Amino acid sequence: MSQLTDDCFAFGGPLMTTAEALRVLSERVSVQVEAEEIGLEQAAGRILCRPVVAGFDVPPHDNTAVDGYALRHRDLDAAAETRLAVVGRAAAGHPHMGEVGQGQAVRIFTGAMMAPGTDTVVMQEDVRLDGEDVLVPPGLQQGANRRAAGEDVQAGQTVLGTGQRLRAQEVGLAATLGQARLQVYRPLRVAVFSTGDELREPGAPLSPGAIYDANRHLLRVLLEGLNCRVGDLGILPDDATVVRDRLAQAAGEHDLLVTSGGVSTGDEDHVKAAVEANGSLHFWRLAIKPGRPLALGQVAGTAFVGLPGNPVAAMICFLRFARPLVLKLAGAGDLEPVLFQVRADFEHRKKPERREWLRARLVPDGQGGLAARKFERQGSGIITSLVDADGLVEIAEEVTHLAKGEMVDFLPFSGVTS
Ligand code: AMP
Ligand code: MG
Repeated sequence: MSQLTDDCFAFGGPLMTTAEALRVLSERVSVQVEAEEIGLEQAAGRILCRPVVAGFDVPPHDNTAVDGYALRHRDLDAAAETRLAVVGRAAAGHPHMGEVGQGQAVRIFTGAMMAPGTDTVVMQEDVRLDGEDVLVPPGLQQGANRRAAGEDVQAGQTVLGTGQRLRAQEVGLAATLGQARLQVYRPLRVAVFSTGDELREPGAPLSPGAIYDANRHLLRVLLEGLNCRVGDLGILPDDATVVRDRLAQAAGEHDLLVTSGGVSTGDEDHVKAAVEANGSLHFWRLAIKPGRPLALGQVAGTAFVGLPGNPVAAMICFLRFARPLVLKLAGAGDLEPVLFQVRADFEHRKKPERREWLRARLVPDGQGGLAARKFERQGSGIITSLVDADGLVEIAEEVTHLAKGEMVDFLPFSGVTS
């Protein structure tokens, strides 16, 4: 676990593209958390720091995919019904161990191990019974309804790699392989605070000129969705000395400091001086709308990210830039969300050379697909638009005019809020 260097976020150019920003984050940021061993019951949302390697085949034995009769395919008459003597029974967890001979079959149930000597299963719906015998129709393929040992996973195979985030299916796979304990990174500890003399905590009275702090609560939920352990540092006043002291204290107890507001480099913004007192800060003038600049740096070796103050810009910048930073610091390998192509249900003009995100809702496109319907009010203070949206339309730098009906990239919130 290395500390972040002073110039880790240094950037020389005048305006930074989204691609460049994401490249810097993925190349210069290193994992900041140590390994620990956990049981499967604690695995949800954690990130592997050691691969999971299969110790045996899955399934471990040939078994039947259906309820029916296990038999030797070479005993069957290709042209006529075949009579076989049912000599035993095999259910899941209760194998039939005896060798099955010529002209014999075994009653078998889904998941049961194939009886020794048998290679094929006929479905119970396809046979007739006559006393202790089963009558099998012609036309059965050899190996039908049999699941082969190792058809899912082979012994020695790496099934989950380092950096893999553990969702339900990964935890299920580890369990399938009998691995009760996993090596993961300990969760990233993230401190969140807001800055601004105008901010009040929900529940407190609102004086003239004051507003409630939305960002800290919004960001806490986003960070918890990424399985971070969030420390709440509250609202900091627009006072460089107070901010400096609180940051220095938080740096010792967290792996990342996240703030919003106070970084637009205006006279009222004190975050810059406060960060630089014990570390370094770089302003990324991102070629994006909404939400520049983004401040990145470190305080006593602990990563720092300063998001815009407007709630909409704060959330969009978090999802697109802070999220990959968080994931990288936490040890995850896959930082980039998947974008989907949908039809634009609107016309849009924009300035070239900057990437733009529009809040949109998905509606049927009338051709069996989906279209993104843009919200009319796209101001970065309009927080209700985030609530009504399903995600963001992402419009590339070079586009200046988007015609209705054209295909656009869509980033669903569901893909980036966890
Ligand atoms: P700033 O970047 O501090 O100049 O803030 C930009 C705008 O966002 C101002 O209108 C602030 O009042 C608003 N703002 C800043 N922080 C928050 C917050 N935590 N919750 C809601 N609005 C905020
Ligand atoms: Mg402010």
